[in-house]
Amino acid sequence: MTTSQSLPSVREAVRRTPAYPFTPIDARYKLDQNENPYDFPEELKVLVWERVRSAEWNRYPDIHADHLREVIGRYEDWDPKGIVITPGSNVLIQKITELAGIGQKVLTVKPTFAIYQLEASMLGANLTQVPLNPDFSMPVEDLGRELAAGGPGVFYVTEPHAPSGFLDDRAAVEAVLEAASNSWLTVLDEAYHQYAGCDHRDLIRGREDRVLLRTFSKAWGLAGIRLGYALTTPALATELQKLVPAFNINVLTAATVEVALENPAYMHERVREGVAERERVYARLSEHPTWQVYPSRTNFLLIRTPDASAAYRGLLERGLLVRRQDSGYTLEGCLRMGIGKPHENDAFLEAAFELS
Ligand SMILES: *Cc1c(COP(=O)(O)O)cnc(C)c1O
Repeated sequence: MTTSQSLPSVREAVRRTPAYPFTPIDARYKLDQNENPYDFPEELKVLVWERVRSAEWNRYPDIHADHLREVIGRYEDWDPKGIVITPGSNVLIQKITELAGIGQKVLTVKPTFAIYQLEASMLGANLTQVPLNPDFSMPVEDLGRELAAGGPGVFYVTEPHAPSGFLDDRAAVEAVLEAASNSWLTVLDEAYHQYAGCDHRDLIRGREDRVLLRTFSKAWGLAGIRLGYALTTPALATELQKLVPAFNINVLTAATVEVALENPAYMHERVREGVAERERVYARLSEHPTWQVYPSRTNFLLIRTPDASAAYRGLLERGLLVRRQDSGYTLEGCLRMGIGKPHENDAFLEAAFELS
């Protein structure tokens, strides 16, 4: 990749930030992006298509996806004025960093979800990452110390955590949220909450300094449709909404998400299977002679191998694409495997034991 010197107009913070680390690779079994292994149900696609077809494509959509905010508000029992919608929650992470991180602080843990770091770096925030405990639980006291030093800035918490899959006790989540004064904008990212059976909406409700992030990319099986949302107070949503470009939710995305929310049974069914498969793969992998698997409350498993590069290549040779995680803090040897369909998980287990 070429960088820097020839583009003096580009801000230095952007030039020195690496691009999002992802290389598309073709493989028979695609277990690298934590996607839902099942496509959106065909009969629901038909309903979406009817709605998209009768919409006027020559007209701009709702300025701030107002109708979709109402539908999400009903589903989540949340005031639609406190909801902000973007094409994927990654965009919300960028907007929140613009809102309260530029020239201020960003606090999170390490290892963590790459986007918090990337946005902090590109937007010139002062980034602090506190090491997680060895079991990937939150270091409540260490975070408390950083929080006590005060913001202003953004504090990112991920429950369950990525890339480990660990779910903290509710008491730990409450403790770090309580330790953050209102000079911090606390963001709780619940991208995988359905797989954990956790729901922290009540810790966010009515709090001007707290935001909950959710997405349609994982449990709902709609990563290709791009939709994420923030739940917060109307006052904070009004400020955050200013940073979101107008008309940014297209007709197809809005129609798809509305149909999904009117027919949520498919999602619950897939989450049930995903959780059962996760536990099955976890139990079997726990018997692996050289690989160590970490308990997970998400739709993926973090696995420590003696040699991440060799394990990754060995899996790929057997048609299995996973994600390397070994460049992350304390993640030497680690790979991340997204739970697939039962036969894909079988193929993974077979390969894993061949590679021991
Ligand atoms: C997958 C994921 C998201 C969702 O990203 P989208 O842009 O909504 O697809 C957010 N946070 C974490 C931690 C994730 O793993």
